[in-house]
Amino acid sequence: MGIATTNPATGEVLQTFESLSDRDLDTKIAHAQQTFLSYRAVPRVQKAVWLNRAAEILETERDRFGKLMTLEMGKPLKAAIAEVEKCASVCRYYAENASHLLADVSVQTDASHSFIRYQPLGIILAVMPWNFPFWQVFRFAAPALMAGNVGLLKHASNVPQSALAIEEILHRAGFPTGAFQTLLVGADKVAAIVGDDRVKAATLTGSEPAGMSLAATAGKHLKKVVLELGGSDPFIVMPSADLETAVSTAVTARMINNGQSCIAAKRFILADAIADEFIDRLLDKYRALKIGDPLLPDTDIGPLATPRILKDLDQQVKTSVQQGAKLLIGGEPLHDRPGNFYPPTILSEIPVGCLAEHDEFFGPVALLFRVPDIDAAIQRANDSPFGLGASAWTTDPKERDRFIEEIESGSVFINSMVKSDVRLPFGGIKRSGYGRELGKEGIHEFVNIKTIWEK
Ligand code: NAP
Repeated sequence: MGIATTNPATGEVLQTFESLSDRDLDTKIAHAQQTFLSYRAVPRVQKAVWLNRAAEILETERDRFGKLMTLEMGKPLKAAIAEVEKCASVCRYYAENASHLLADVSVQTDASHSFIRYQPLGIILAVMPWNFPFWQVFRFAAPALMAGNVGLLKHASNVPQSALAIEEILHRAGFPTGAFQTLLVGADKVAAIVGDDRVKAATLTGSEPAGMSLAATAGKHLKKVVLELGGSDPFIVMPSADLETAVSTAVTARMINNGQSCIAAKRFILADAIADEFIDRLLDKYRALKIGDPLLPDTDIGPLATPRILKDLDQQVKTSVQQGAKLLIGGEPLHDRPGNFYPPTILSEIPVGCLAEHDEFFGPVALLFRVPDIDAAIQRANDSPFGLGASAWTTDPKERDRFIEEIESGSVFINSMVKSDVRLPFGGIKRSGYGRELGKEGIHEFVNIKTIWEK
């Protein structure tokens, strides 16, 4: 795929970009390396001033950046603007907290003084996806820059203008130009960049194949990697749950970002006692969703980001139906208009062996499963190759404790949808990846945790 902005609501190619030559790529890596030597010693208070300024730019120009994202990947404008605001919050969080999160930690031993010091590693490569074009980058960049690392961004090929805008924001905020650079290159260049001796570590948010490829290259060169990959999060509803709140939240949790979020609720696991009622209410709410131009304020669901995603999702739904799943609503791309529009869709009665049991559906498709009791609910939730997040709805304290203890995932949210919070670690287990972003754990991923021992 070439590097280009194509409006997913119309299919119109708005702007194309040349990929960097190998020579220009080398120049950028050299600039990053040179910058790191001085940037690492810049006092943290200064870095915090720059990061807070980046937050101000984001807040002041939220509408412009939001519109850019909507034009590049189709998310509803109000969600895009909220994403810009969240980016400002992660900048402010690390500007304020990096100093204490990275402060020396004394440890009592038989030394006269022993302690831990956190030091930057150098150049970190970030390979990022298009679904949250600003957020995914800022949640990497804010802690990495505060820790004294420098960043190289290889963004998804369909969001080049977002990638360039982020670089511009950080430079306008005051960061040296070599502290953060966007590389307009395709995925085929990633292995060479990771293999470059000057690049010390990498983080990738994206699909399993991309994660495996990056991890294999990083393994060959013995480099640290953080991987934030796919998910098929369960959303479990037990009989004691507040049903109306659970159903409303289920719609939001499935439809967020036009259904293209790693932590979207994808598998709805419903206790038999409330399943019929839940499904009726879900169908009502699905019918009320407005699909259309993502720039309009009352649009709930915009287009999928690319024709490829539309084609893949359509194929998954059709195969699932052929394999015996029952289609309750939707199930056919909207052929009456240009763009990559796919309607809210629900599959139920998914039989054993159907691909809907274990695949990630990256679009507005809810997969329903009925269970007789909590044992079956937990078993169904864990019967997935993924382990990113989980949402469980119950007012029974014993059930709550079991969900917290027994669900295999990087997070469990009780009576809430799964969401990221700058103060809490975010990441997955199993095929959802490894490592964490955000919170204290996020800023500790790309540092040398140095032990000091004095006699
Ligand atoms: P993708 O195709 O894997 O692309 C993500 C990034 O990886 C892009 O920059 C892409 O570049 C690059 N890439 C693709 N193949 C690569 C390879 N073989 N080696 C190195 N880099 C490669 O993912 P996507 O389809 O855009 O994103 C959807 C997936 O991301 C879903 O599975 C979703 O769940 C996951 N995701 C996870 C999280 C999380 O936090 N866990 C968050 C968001 C999304 P090009 O664009 O140039 O191909």
